[in-house]
Amino acid sequence: MAACIGSMTGLLSVRWGTAGRGPLVACRRWAGSSADTVYDVVVSGGGLVGAAMACALGHDINFRDKKILLLEAGPRKVLDKLSETYSNRVSSISPGSATLLSSFGAWDHVCNMRCKAFRRMQVWDSCSEALIMFDKDNLDDMGYIVENDVIMHALTKQLEAVADRVKVLYRSKAVGYAWPGPFSMADSSPWVHITLGDGSTLQTKLLIGADGHNSGVRRATGIQNVSWPYDQSAVVATLHLSEATENNVAWQRFLPSGPIALLPLSDTLSSLVWSTSHDHAAELVSMDEEEFVDAINSAFWSDANHTDFVDSASTMMHYVVSLLKPTKFSARQLPPSIAKVDAKSRALFPLGLGHASEYVRPRVALIGDAAHRVHPLAGQGVNMGFGDVSSLVRHLSSAAFNGKDLGSMSHLTGYETDRQRHNTALLAATDLLKRLYSSRATPLVLLRTWGLQATNAVPPLKEQIMAFASK
Ligand SMILES: Cc1cc2nc3c(=O)[nH]c(=O)nc-3n(C[C@H](O)[C@H](O)[C@H](O)COP(=O)(O)OP(=O)(O)OC[C@H]3O[C@@H](n4cnc5c(N)ncnc54)[C@H](O)[C@@H]3O)c2cc1C
Repeated sequence: MAACIGSMTGLLSVRWGTAGRGPLVACRRWAGSSADTVYDVVVSGGGLVGAAMACALGHDINFRDKKILLLEAGPRKVLDKLSETYSNRVSSISPGSATLLSSFGAWDHVCNMRCKAFRRMQVWDSCSEALIMFDKDNLDDMGYIVENDVIMHALTKQLEAVADRVKVLYRSKAVGYAWPGPFSMADSSPWVHITLGDGSTLQTKLLIGADGHNSGVRRATGIQNVSWPYDQSAVVATLHLSEATENNVAWQRFLPSGPIALLPLSDTLSSLVWSTSHDHAAELVSMDEEEFVDAINSAFWSDANHTDFVDSASTMMHYVVSLLKPTKFSARQLPPSIAKVDAKSRALFPLGLGHASEYVRPRVALIGDAAHRVHPLAGQGVNMGFGDVSSLVRHLSSAAFNGKDLGSMSHLTGYETDRQRHNTALLAATDLLKRLYSSRATPLVLLRTWGLQATNAVPPLKEQIMAFASK
């Protein structure tokens, strides 16, 4: 716990203002040609977040006469035909993210292809009877499980719809960035210079770093990144349920080794995200399919981590809560049992946390995993990135409308302040949950059991949590 509080302090040591942030110091002398193309905005990194950023700018009315470039090291990703087999990489998309994707037409493509809405979420502890159930009285969707490939396809289609404003260079890696010097000289360019892997060069008034958690843009700016690896990897897989159900609940159980989540894909299929020790994760991906399915069912159903003492304390708390609040109480539901795993759908991803102490510098902004990396237990990584996109586009659109310099700190810091407030809170809460649930120590188990039971009994508190997570 002490380590946790210490690490939180590091995470939260962010700067809210511009004080002390001078212009970027040139990291090397510019040797390119002054006849380079000058873009208004270059987005470096065309993953889910960078592609959404380029799309949102391309569809923004105030950017109609601007030149935008998206650089992506990988190939163009469109699905000529949707495969019957689901991809093992999926994301839980919040209603707020769906609204962003709708604002430039990408969400229609997603809905026309494949996505599964969920209406409830049950989270429970493997060391006690404590659970929390999130649901919507009005049957609104709580979120959507979508394959990353489907979102990428939708974004690529919408980028092509604004090809006159947004140029996309696939298989183009940015290998060098050089910044304008602190004092402009008569022959020096005031823009950011970018060198690509093939040796070509270009310039931009604003560089947006969307190049993932190992961001080269962040490194080149010298912005500090608070980061640590977790002692866990996430195992993903596509699972077949034993029987068809409505399958509109997202399930997550906290085991002492890490959380296991089952996310609905269709009436008969769900996606697994199981965070566990690196050794156990490696074992899970290499064991035979039957053994793997047994391990999942037992992780969801076994009560081997319960103790009589915690069970009695939890029953007592349950009794007290039902006396104080005899009405509406979310009853435990049972997760579906798993019959089969899709062949070759198992993969593992080492997990870590990262947070850039600054999101902006003159002429540079960081978005998505380049700015923050979070444990998948809250299903928030890409949603935080899409939140960055909404905020940055809002600030840039108003700057463009008012004819201001897009790379100026006056509006970039507005973006930073908006997003750091939201993202640091989420990062800290997620890290705390990960640590709190990694322990089998009785006082901690009791604390979290009572905490979860109490939270479950207070609908306004649950609504606050849902509202925050659905942004
Ligand atoms: C197991 C797992 C489950 C998850 N589940 C969820 C979930 O349910 N919900 C959720 O919200 N989030 C989830 N996440 C997190 C989410 O996947 C990430 O937050 C998100 O993909 C980050 O997107 P990004 O575009 O910022 O970065 P990335 O996906 O890393 O994309 C960066 C892109 O930049 C390109 N690039 C890098 N360097 C260069 C360069 N020099 N020049 C040009 N291009 C470059 C790369 O090719 C890449 O395409 C999960 C993560 C994991 C590991």
